[in-house]
Amino acid sequence: MGLRVLVADPIDQASVKMLKEAGFEVEYRPDISAAELEKTVKGCSVLVVRGRTKVTAKVIESGLPSLKVVGRAGVGLDNVDVEAAARHGVKVLNTPEAPTNSVAELVIGLMLAVSRKIAWCDRVMRAGKWPKHEAMGVELAGKTLGVIGYGRIGRAVAKIAHAMGMRILAYDVIQIPAELLEEADAKLTSLEEVLKNSDVITLHVPLTPETRHFINSEKLALLKPSAILVNASRGEVVDEEALYKALSTGRLAGAGLDVFEREPPTGSKLLELDNVVATPHIGAQTYEAQEAAGRMLAAKIIEAIKP
Ligand code: NAD
Repeated sequence: MGLRVLVADPIDQASVKMLKEAGFEVEYRPDISAAELEKTVKGCSVLVVRGRTKVTAKVIESGLPSLKVVGRAGVGLDNVDVEAAARHGVKVLNTPEAPTNSVAELVIGLMLAVSRKIAWCDRVMRAGKWPKHEAMGVELAGKTLGVIGYGRIGRAVAKIAHAMGMRILAYDVIQIPAELLEEADAKLTSLEEVLKNSDVITLHVPLTPETRHFINSEKLALLKPSAILVNASRGEVVDEEALYKALSTGRLAGAGLDVFEREPPTGSKLLELDNVVATPHIGAQTYEAQEAAGRMLAAKIIEAIKP
């Protein structure tokens, strides 16, 4: 019998095939409950998840001693207790490279949807109206884009925005090599300068204790009232209460949000605002990104633990 892989979230079937062909026995349980997970992980060598399943210390301990690898098809590891995994010698693998283009393209879409009121126009037209005059928008060409977190996705957004004629300001906690800045003619500067001078601010930091509520009322107060905030990083990076206040009082012109503090954001007041465009955490929801995440993860698993 081959080594067992438990797939606890939906992943691309091509990667399941890759694992089977490499000799793994794959149990595909994309809807598994937390209680069932603790039982089913026993005897498995690999646990594969996306963002839904919480890989707690208890889940990891339930998989011992056979569990060797936790694979996350995607970027964020906030649903995996990486410290518990390290403590028990369980390797954690993820595929941060896979969704970069998909998230970057969605961010550009959100920027355009907010600046040209695309989603609002669609809503109003379906109600039989023709809101041509109310739909006055702003061009992005010639405007300044502030990229907070100049990693993979931040840089990919900057490159497209630069090609659209935007000026790029970047802020990061690490020194960004000059050649990466040159790709989008970006200027690395202070957080304050990015917040004060950008027409669109896009967030691409990971969720850490330092970045929780990174955008709060003090930072929002520094933005131009005409600015648009885009968040396709993690919902908790923004204090939604403060964001609602800024958007509903004219302190901030608009927001494009793919992620929320609570998902789904049922009952969120943000969804009542016409200057908000919301998407249900679809940054990585493209056939290309999912296929790449599955394929890259399967390759890393096969490399790490030969069945
Ligand atoms: P990355 O690691 O390549 O880049 C993150 C950058 O943020 C790094 O350069 C890092 O130095 C910087 N950073 C960290 N802490 C910071 C801080 N306090 N202030 C300023 N900069 C800081 O990651 P990436 O691949 O670009 O992904 C960015 C984030 O996007 C991920 O962490 C994930 O949460 C999110 N994401 C969302 C979706 C989605 O579906 N919407 C999909 C994929 C990733």
